[in-house]
Amino acid sequence: MLTGGCYCGAIRYETDGTPRDETNCHCSICRRTTGAPFVTWFSVQSTQFRIVKGRPARFNSTEKGTRSFCSRCGTQIAFEHADFPNLIDITTSSLDNPDLVPPRDNTRTSSRLGWIVQNGLPNYRESRQQG
Ligand SMILES: [Zn+2]
Ligand SMILES: [Zn+2]
Repeated sequence: MLTGGCYCGAIRYETDGTPRDETNCHCSICRRTTGAPFVTWFSVQSTQFRIVKGRPARFNSTEKGTRSFCSRCGTQIAFEHADFPNLIDITTSSLDNPDLVPPRDNTRTSSRLGWIVQNGLPNYRESRQQG
C-alpha cells in the first residue's frame, strides 16, 4: 500500500495498485501548474486509487486533462486523461515515501529547460504513450 497527501494534510490518499509509467515529465503544463521545473509521476489503475481524507479541487489543464490539487496548500495530487479513464497519474513527490517509486525515464524532453542536468535515465522527446 502506498500512501500520500498534500503538504497541509487536508488531502490524504492511498493506492494498492502496482505503479507503472514512472517518469519525470518535462512538459510546460506540469511546469506551469506546479512552479517546478519538472514533475515526477507514476500511474495506477483508477480503481486502485482512493482519496481517504478531504476533497481535492479539480481543473482542466487541457481539453481532456484534469488535474487535482489541494485548494488550501496547492499541492498537485493527480492527473486524469479522458482517453485513459482506467488510469490515474499520481505525483510521486506527494507520496509519504517518494523513494519507493523512482522514475524510470524522462518524457516530454522537447520542452525540457536548458539548465536541467541529465540524470542518466532514457529520454523521450514526447510522451511514451499518453499525455
Ligand atoms: Zn493541502
Ligand atoms: Zn507533464
